[in-house]
Amino acid sequence: GSTKAAAHFVFVPLNEQGHLIPAVDTALLLATHGALCTIVAPPSTAARVRHTVDAARHSGLPVRLVEFPLDYAAAGLPEGADHADRIEPRYMMSYYRAVALLRAPIERYLRARAPYPTCVVSDFFNPWTTELAAGLGVPRLSFFCMCAFSILCQHNLERFHAFAGVEDSNEPVVVPGLETRRVVVTRAQAPGFLRGIPIPEWEVLADYIERARAEADGVIFNTFLELEPEYAAGYAAARGMKVWTVGPVSLYHQQAGAAATLASRGKGNNDTPAVDAAGCLRWLDGRDPGSVLYVCFGSIAQPEPKQVVELGLGLEASGHPFVWVVRNAGGYDEAVRGFLDELEARVAGRGLIVRGWAPQLAILSHAAAGGFVTHCGWNSMLEAIVAGLPVVTWPHFADQFLNEKMAVEVLGIGVSVGVKEPLTYQAVKKEIVVGRDVVEAAVRSVMGGGEEAERRRRRVRALAAKARAAVQEGGSSHANLLDLVKRFEPR
Ligand code: UDP
Repeated sequence: GSTKAAAHFVFVPLNEQGHLIPAVDTALLLATHGALCTIVAPPSTAARVRHTVDAARHSGLPVRLVEFPLDYAAAGLPEGADHADRIEPRYMMSYYRAVALLRAPIERYLRARAPYPTCVVSDFFNPWTTELAAGLGVPRLSFFCMCAFSILCQHNLERFHAFAGVEDSNEPVVVPGLETRRVVVTRAQAPGFLRGIPIPEWEVLADYIERARAEADGVIFNTFLELEPEYAAGYAAARGMKVWTVGPVSLYHQQAGAAATLASRGKGNNDTPAVDAAGCLRWLDGRDPGSVLYVCFGSIAQPEPKQVVELGLGLEASGHPFVWVVRNAGGYDEAVRGFLDELEARVAGRGLIVRGWAPQLAILSHAAAGGFVTHCGWNSMLEAIVAGLPVVTWPHFADQFLNEKMAVEVLGIGVSVGVKEPLTYQAVKKEIVVGRDVVEAAVRSVMGGGEEAERRRRRVRALAAKARAAVQEGGSSHANLLDLVKRFEPR
């Protein structure tokens, strides 16, 4: 019989792992449902997900990853500035300019090859994709790697000028426009990725991003409806635009046929070398079920040296087995590196220190995992929920303080270490923000057997079941993926 031509999504992700990984997983999920997905990216970005995309192609998914070289010189960017885990703030604007220069070559490429695209899905940090989609004459959806709760909070804080007249960055303000909940934030805790980041020209980009957000034809969220129905609906209503919740997209790797990439997701070309994943998982095989605490602050956050030591001493004092990921450990001075070596020797057999990119998804889904000390990056939060693990929350910047409120106040699955201000403030003060005793207490509380700990575990396990149901046949995220594939079929 005749089959209708399939939807063709063009994904334009951001280089940062926390944006890139879920965007690629979303593309793979859409491909699973029959859509053709073309992911376009500069070489250094593509290298991070090449392995995952190739594995998906080999298993027969209609997905391709196309590299477009950056013209570093034309954008005033030093050669190779995007090879590090994170682009240095002073190069950030030049980097965005360099990527924006890819619009014309990408459009030429897409025009020259059938099938013609039917929809552009772009990270909100790539506002130039508005022109790409307009040039191609197709709609553009914004991909949000954050939860609807944090985006809605941020949207309302800006819309209602909530901080007008607030002098002190630590003065509490109630987030306006949330019908059912009283959420209190300070300016310091409100996401700093749009305002107040000390990068020249940042305000220009921020305005550009805001316009691109307001003018999107819809939003794809890596979250699931049952987790936050009122906030997803609230954002759709506030913006007057269609919202598709399609997560948790990490579950792509946990379906039959895709498990090959579970332990290698995102490892690509990082500054921080990847750990031997098999060795790490073997270590976990030797631990009791639910006994191990996983500690990781994502792909960017780099705690102050003194703070690393306090965390290590807190973990040691807690008495619980742990896997602790120290990103860019080689970047710390001799004192910290020596401390890590000594700590590892003292807790031999009980603690594993990973100095590099860890197989996070595989660790969290291992039976030995029992809890997660997280910086509250949204991907990590969702991955904890999927794994049914309660969290110790330790936000560092961006949407992380709002995600912490989501975990602790909305969902009741976390214990906070009580950080008040983002890392940039802490770096200036060079003080210990979270003492070893606070770490120890939070870990004991989350890993312990008390009544509240049990309640937290029950809640997060119930959410894990709902997350799985959402992406299965008949679930809300599954239905939204199907709707996207259907809606963007060629006319
Ligand atoms: N991640 C990983 N290994 C690491 C560090 C991070 O696999 O050693 C993955 C993690 O599973 C998540 C992503 O990288 O999918 C980080 O995204 P998140 O939103 O948690 O934090 P960000 O890195 O954006 O701060």
